Amino acid sequence: MKISTVYLYDEPSVPEIKIEDLVKFIQENFRVKVESRESVFRFFKPSSGAVSYELAACRIFDTKRPFEKHNPTNEEIKMEEELLTESKETNIIMYDGFEFQKIITSLIPENELQSDKFHLAFTNKLTCTYDFTDYRYHGRAVICSNPSIISTTGIIEAPAKPREYYLALLTKMTQGLNIDSIKDQFKGKYLEYHDSKLADVVKGYALQALIYYLTGEPFCESIECRLFNAHWQADLLYSQIQIGKLCNKHQQFLDTIVANRE
Ligand SMILES: [Zn+2]
Repeated sequence: MKISTVYLYDEPSVPEIKIEDLVKFIQENFRVKVESRESVFRFFKPSSGAVSYELAACRIFDTKRPFEKHNPTNEEIKMEEELLTESKETNIIMYDGFEFQKIITSLIPENELQSDKFHLAFTNKLTCTYDFTDYRYHGRAVICSNPSIISTTGIIEAPAKPREYYLALLTKMTQGLNIDSIKDQFKGKYLEYHDSKLADVVKGYALQALIYYLTGEPFCESIECRLFNAHWQADLLYSQIQIGKLCNKHQQFLDTIVANRE
């Protein structure tokens, strides 16, 4: 698989992505043309109605059941309609990641669906996938495919916070105490909404999406590599911020791709 152009779609409600930094990062690492675009829904301006209906229909209500198309209410459709034009923060709503990915695919015109054109869309919607090993939905930071999806809410919610955090939360809640102090106690140990560290973390997820497209294998076993599939916030911050690079094997792989292009 070869990539000639990467299209990045921003999530305007999360300026911490720093899309132009990501453009440069991908250009430097893959030596391909990278174009940043506004939010995928604003850029393609889908005729209203159909897309907002489809989005509302892929919401997840029962995390223990595999995907079943939801029959949306008018209110749910209206809410999606508003979010299409004005990307803003909402309460966390779960969406089936693969259904969401299909909706994005349906927006991309035919002449941009060639295999050398790679699309990567950011969203603040929480994308989830059903896992048949434990029979439940889980939040996902990245849905690897073309188009790939990176969920900023997934980055914050999917990798777990420290065990001690949940324990402290439970203790305070059962004592009826204010839980804000827990946030201070664990500050810096996990990503928060609008965390400035997001700019670096999204680079790692973009690498995972691109390398998956090129090799069929998104992850690395080594925690000392940006392709490490982090299940814990601590591991995510370690791989993406403290290490902040690929392992030797993956760096060599990337160097080979770049050398073959030149
Ligand atoms: Zn690696």
